[in-house]
Amino acid sequence: MDSQVKLSDVYGVNVFNDAVMRQRLPKTIYKEFVKVRNGSIEMTQAIADVLAGAMKDWALEHGATHYTHWFQPMTGFTAEKHDSFISPTPDGRTILEFSGSELIKGEPDASSFPSGGLRVTFEARGYTAWDCTSPVFIKGKTLYIPSAFCSYTGEALDKKTPLLRSMETLNKQAMRVLRALGNGDVSSVTSTLGPEQEYFLVDRRFFEKRMDLMLAGRTLFGAPSPRGQEMEDHYFGALHERVSAFMNDVNFELWQLGVSAKTQHNEVAPAQYEIAPIFTTVNVATDHNQITMETLQKVARRHDFVCLLHEKPFAGVNGSGKHNNWSLVTDTGNNLLDPGNTPHDNMLFLVFLCAVIRAVDKYAHLLRASVANPGNEHRLGANEAPPAIISIFLGDQLTDIFEQLAAGGAKTSQQGGQLKLGISTLPPLPKDCTDRNRTSPFAFTGNKFEFRMVGSSQSTSGPCFVLNTIVADVLMEIADELEKSKDVKADAQKVLKKIATDHARIIFNGDNYSDDWVKEAHKRGLSNIASAVDALETILEKENIDVFKRHKVLSKHELHARTEILLENYSKTLNIEAGATLSMAKRQILPACIAYSTKLAEAVNGLTAADIRPAVQKRELEKVNSLIEDLSSAIEALDKAVGKARMIEKPGDQARCFKEDVVPAMAEVRTAADTLEMTVDAELWPLPGYVEMLFLR
Ligand code: ADP
Ligand code: MG
Repeated sequence: MDSQVKLSDVYGVNVFNDAVMRQRLPKTIYKEFVKVRNGSIEMTQAIADVLAGAMKDWALEHGATHYTHWFQPMTGFTAEKHDSFISPTPDGRTILEFSGSELIKGEPDASSFPSGGLRVTFEARGYTAWDCTSPVFIKGKTLYIPSAFCSYTGEALDKKTPLLRSMETLNKQAMRVLRALGNGDVSSVTSTLGPEQEYFLVDRRFFEKRMDLMLAGRTLFGAPSPRGQEMEDHYFGALHERVSAFMNDVNFELWQLGVSAKTQHNEVAPAQYEIAPIFTTVNVATDHNQITMETLQKVARRHDFVCLLHEKPFAGVNGSGKHNNWSLVTDTGNNLLDPGNTPHDNMLFLVFLCAVIRAVDKYAHLLRASVANPGNEHRLGANEAPPAIISIFLGDQLTDIFEQLAAGGAKTSQQGGQLKLGISTLPPLPKDCTDRNRTSPFAFTGNKFEFRMVGSSQSTSGPCFVLNTIVADVLMEIADELEKSKDVKADAQKVLKKIATDHARIIFNGDNYSDDWVKEAHKRGLSNIASAVDALETILEKENIDVFKRHKVLSKHELHARTEILLENYSKTLNIEAGATLSMAKRQILPACIAYSTKLAEAVNGLTAADIRPAVQKRELEKVNSLIEDLSSAIEALDKAVGKARMIEKPGDQARCFKEDVVPAMAEVRTAADTLEMTVDAELWPLPGYVEMLFLR
């Protein structure tokens, strides 16, 4: 960012936000639009026309020439098709037009997006619908209109539609609970999200020499670097100048788009970093996270870096996640998951807390499935990330209260006190009631839950709409109970007691990475679904179909389609990885190894009788040749496994074959190649290694 530019002048300049609307819209229209946005009235043609006109004028003043409905199909990326504002006149000039109808509805021929059988190609029509709860913005020369994407028959084909539906049901059920508990001043409840985004930066020179990074986003080969993350010196370390320049540029672009980039730091693995915004509604936060991922990748190129968002780009060092900080906030600004100083007598807090606990235990499979993708499979259950067991960290204070609830009622709250460092010049610090736990997949962190299993490349939509829906479902049960109650206070206590009794098993404050926990969790009857394919298949369990149907978030048909898309995506990803593995192994690695073997053979042939100890050259040659044989037979086995998987048609069966046959065969090829990398002449090795990629800035 230019040092002359003031941050406050830059923030949000490219967003058609409320300040701009208040300035540019007639007062009555602005007021009506706010009502449309909060769901109390429906959009009319008149409002849309005025808004479209104001947007067009604003966009043209900012140099825009085009507009696009910006949507999030099931690819996990965003999609955009730009139309210009021009409308030629008979005399050869143009007028610039943008109508309310064009703002509200788009009709891309979007038949090439994954639909999981919801549409076949000849049924090409799809619609995009303006989501007026997420602000319109300008990027480059185009006005971006955040939109939902559905089929001709109104079925969701995207990530936004179920998220918006889940927000509605959550609002409805949370309001019922609030009313039943006697609250009169709140008129809506929304879920909020602050996603911490992890990523890697590698120099573009190395990226371009590695087919695996280019095609799969992760290294499919690579012997470990002699130095990894064991010195624990990268985490929160001083930012490298080149990285710092990159981050400054990223922030500048994000701030202009109204994305509140707030926190940045070095992460645990070398070349790994994190960026986190200030939280906002789950819908806007999800859009902003997509913008953030795109901006990271775009700006990285400008700095001759490449940004890797894959969950596990490098074996042997930490992978990347996306910590989804999630909470529930009222329109009056009250965080329903804020315990206050004496949580034991904060009935609202206890009810919402217990609702989340029951939802997470009851629908653990859905939460697990919401983070299942091929990349995350390397992370969940590996040693730096939460295992595939869902459990909740509550911390000492709340666990104590939870236990009191099970015993009949909570009477006290443990307090944190003060922390004294024993140095007279340092102030005493107020101590939190609870320590943190970095190993928990679902941790209470003071006034929100942090869902840590989410993968770094994933849209935050899935984990959020699952969480919203399952919590709404439990809130519905509670509301049903309390609305018919004659003594709400006593009955609320009963509800809390039952939840605290039934769901004690999901609370775990210890070390989630320990083997003991895996055994303990098994005893408690908690699932441990390590495979992404198994996790995805649980989506279609009856209670999962039912909960989405009950809350009109996804129909059975939509859910089937989605599951199919996710399974297909798994197979497609593995097919690309296997293809790249074979190509690199056959055309780059094997030839290099053979060249080295030839060189050794020549050395052996060149030995004369005068050489006293020819054994070294001979031994090396034998060793290398035997490793080459291993590599060659591993390649052959992988070829066969891929051939078999490609023949299978049913998405679930195919994904399972990739998982069970292709993944281990790929691992064999890698092991053989990585062993050779540690032996073969470095001059002959065709790929940049882990040392360069992780340590050269
Ligand atoms: P950590 O110490 O967990 O790494 P960070 O500061 O990196 O914390 O990120 C915490 C994230 O949680 C931020 O994005 C922040 O805005 C978000 N957050 C804070 N309060 C809430 C809330 N009530 N709802 C949702 N997200 C929240
Ligand atoms: Mg963090």
